Amino acid sequence: MKSEDVKVRTIYQDQRIAEEFCNFRCDYCEGFCPSGYSIATDNEGNLKVPAEWHDKIHSLPDKVKVFFEQGRTMNQFYQLANEVMKETKKEVATDILKISGGEVTTNGQLLEFVKSIHQQYSMIQILTNGLNLTNDDLDQYKQMGNVTFQVSIDGATAESNYAKSHNALVTKRVLDNLDYMIKKGLGVEINCVLTKYNTDKFLEFLERFKDANDFMVVPRPVRGKPREVIDFSTKQVLIFEQQVKENFERYKKILPPKEYIDRLIEMMKTGKRNSYCYIPFFVLSIDGYGNFEQCPIGLMPRKRQNIIEGTVEKNEILIHSNYQVINNYQLCEYCIVQYEMLNLYVEGKISKEELRRMPSLNSDMTTMHIDEIKQDIIMKDLKKQLEGKYEIKINQIEKNEESTDGNVFIITSNSNKKYVIKVYQTKEHTKEMIKVHSLLMSAGLNVPKIISSKENEEYGTLINGNYFIVYSFIKGKQVDYDQKTSKLDSNIVKAIAKTLRGMHDITNGENKCHLPGIPFQNENNIHRYSVLHFDMTRKNIFITENNDEKISFIDFDDAKYGPSVCDVAIALANLFLSKTRGTDMDGINQFIEEYYAGDKELKSEELPLIKTLALQWVDYILEGNDFDTSTTESFVVRRKLIEKNL
Ligand code: SF4
Ligand code: SF4
Repeated sequence: MKSEDVKVRTIYQDQRIAEEFCNFRCDYCEGFCPSGYSIATDNEGNLKVPAEWHDKIHSLPDKVKVFFEQGRTMNQFYQLANEVMKETKKEVATDILKISGGEVTTNGQLLEFVKSIHQQYSMIQILTNGLNLTNDDLDQYKQMGNVTFQVSIDGATAESNYAKSHNALVTKRVLDNLDYMIKKGLGVEINCVLTKYNTDKFLEFLERFKDANDFMVVPRPVRGKPREVIDFSTKQVLIFEQQVKENFERYKKILPPKEYIDRLIEMMKTGKRNSYCYIPFFVLSIDGYGNFEQCPIGLMPRKRQNIIEGTVEKNEILIHSNYQVINNYQLCEYCIVQYEMLNLYVEGKISKEELRRMPSLNSDMTTMHIDEIKQDIIMKDLKKQLEGKYEIKINQIEKNEESTDGNVFIITSNSNKKYVIKVYQTKEHTKEMIKVHSLLMSAGLNVPKIISSKENEEYGTLINGNYFIVYSFIKGKQVDYDQKTSKLDSNIVKAIAKTLRGMHDITNGENKCHLPGIPFQNENNIHRYSVLHFDMTRKNIFITENNDEKISFIDFDDAKYGPSVCDVAIALANLFLSKTRGTDMDGINQFIEEYYAGDKELKSEELPLIKTLALQWVDYILEGNDFDTSTTESFVVRRKLIEKNL
């Protein structure tokens, strides 16, 4: 079940407020043209704005204009932002409210503002240049319990911060504030812009903060027009690469994962981004006037969608519905920021633990929501591939809740045809599955058929680096116990035994599918080896719909190569011995008789091995799984029944 079904989910609401006003004049400031705006106020508290601001306001909806009818004090900008947040909250469930300007601390009432809203979100992240904060402010932010910071600073010295400020005292003050934040245990992400002033001095920055907890320095290149003047040199990039790579272990506590560093360096060297971006699936960017944007960095406008005006269409609030993953938008070409960690997580390149090292993302609930969105993205990708490469028009994709690994999906096409999709983590496992199914199919066994793409590919690759195979859907039902006797019908028992023997005979001999061996000790005197299903449970045994006792085995995910008798032992333990139904001795005998079918020599050779193998299998299952108490108990009882009756 999804954590919250009623609203559209975003992880970050990237909310700008009074975005034109800042107390800095950084050389690389991109979007906010600070030169025409001033935080100095007239007698009425009105902020100074250029003529273009009035043009902008005139083009905005009346419901937005009304906020500035009496003037343009900081208070009016924040009242408007408050309304934007209130209206957005009605439609969107947000984990982290990230507030940024301009510079939000230019509002003298920021602390009170944050106090008034912080309980409505799991976390508040404040993006600031860090100058205006006082220790008393920081104490109070800490007391709120859910406030973290993103601080823009480019190094540990005035020289490194030259693009930010030419005043050494400013840098010192920000560094002091950072020390206090760390001391107070406020989570901090550093937004470090790499320029010609600091790229080769990154190590001194890391050394300064190497012991900090809940702290991450995220470097990114300067972008846009300022690159022409303050970009790093090729030599500086090489120094940066060497310094970070050689010292990664020393500083990894405060650095982003290695995959981020590799991607950053590649971009710095080539000037190009070579991967797709999924950030708009996780971040809803809204400007200070209530306009929804497609991307928090590119600030791409959508067709006008203003939450105050009420022109945000419900099914287009978030990107899930209409965002096309792009990497050809001009700004994407040279874009990498702290949100890239979400891209790396979607691609399966960093783990959940690595993702959670970002102070703003270190929460069980937030990572659960990230996983939900990630799953949506993967499903969207799967759907696109099935429609494009397999020409299967999808009507519905459903996760098979019965699958223990959560890797099985049932697809229904527009023409009502069903398919099973299985997702595998490694190419090796995927290829094993292709070999097993192809071998069994070609020998006439009734197993799911592998459906190839129109280019004849037997598997596909998903954006998260996993692989998938499309299988035919076996029409039939799981074999089931008779309601009165609680036993399997004897004809079904015989059919299962016969089919299993058939499978073992077909695959007897060398390990053609290159499957792994069984995970427990082998008896040296076993001679018959074959493919093993290794998960012979009732849920993996189907009987065809017309009840002609034609048996199908599905789910070869655990398949192994080993002594055939091992599958016999697993089948007996699973089908005829249980905590609720006790022991079905008749079933066991029927199965054995049918399986060995008069082959007395083989039977006398293998029968004495069944008990030991069944016990080894139960122990292996119990050791390898973290079951709940009742499942554990059922295996413990099964073990006792094996000891007693096999
Ligand atoms: S602190 Fe941020 S908003 Fe202010 S001038 Fe620098 S980059 Fe621009
Ligand atoms: S790469 Fe950057 S500009 Fe492009 S969509 Fe992602 S965040 Fe936006």
